[in-house]
Amino acid sequence: PQQGQTLLEVVEVRKVFGGLVAVNDVSFDIKAGEIVGLLGPNGAGKSTTFNLITGVASLSNGRVRLLGEEIGGLPSRLIARRGVSRTFQHVKMLPEMSVLENVALGGYLRSHAGILRSVAGLARDEERRLFREAERQLERVGLREQMHEPAGNLALGQARLMEIARALCADPVLLLLDEPAAGLRHQEKQSLGRVLRQLKGEGMSLLLVEHDMEFVMDLTDRIVVMEFGTKLMEGTPAEVQASPQVRAAYLGM
Ligand code: ADP
Ligand code: MG
Repeated sequence: PQQGQTLLEVVEVRKVFGGLVAVNDVSFDIKAGEIVGLLGPNGAGKSTTFNLITGVASLSNGRVRLLGEEIGGLPSRLIARRGVSRTFQHVKMLPEMSVLENVALGGYLRSHAGILRSVAGLARDEERRLFREAERQLERVGLREQMHEPAGNLALGQARLMEIARALCADPVLLLLDEPAAGLRHQEKQSLGRVLRQLKGEGMSLLLVEHDMEFVMDLTDRIVVMEFGTKLMEGTPAEVQASPQVRAAYLGM
């Protein structure tokens, strides 16, 4: 996609769980090359919005388009194949396996049943290709030196970078990160910020859910603020920070 072209259109998406409207007719766009933040208090519907975009949850209503084509309602595997990759709020890893194996097999595991089947079922060429790609993406996020360590040895900040490398293996046009900075120390946040800026510099588009105001303000081009399932406002980081509505709802000021 060309820089500035509309990449993702989220149009009045809705998710109802029983009697609860978790996401209430939320609309926003992402342009190619942008980093957009999705901000809001716990339970606002941010992760559910991610799940709707990536096909992890089914839409109760609304549309999702990628480069003009409808992807809403497609199975997550097909949405991933179209170029939308994500990480989850909680790190998913096989702690005894190496960082490299976790990244190489991650994508494969997501669409197949079990580890044994996936290892046994991989053709040699395909296996080599996956491992080469994993190494390349680990290099990209600055984790190449740790690639032979057990994934369980990684600090949280490194584990998050490992997940980003795994998501990058699918060669996405859009990367969705669910709270990548949560629980990280200052230095780890800075490394993460550097990696994300570098990805943006390479033309990647990103949507990130984040609680950490400072982190979002620094990194994003635009912010969508959610509260109780609805979109409260949208604007530049400066506009969002200055909004009395947001300060009241989100910051409790
Ligand atoms: P956030 O990520 O902004 O913290 P979520 O999208 O996780 O918010 O949750 C939004 C609301 O939907 C919450 O009230 C949550 O309890 C509810 N919810 C999320 N997932 C489910 C589910 N699978 N079943 C029922 N309720 C859910
Ligand atoms: Mg969440």
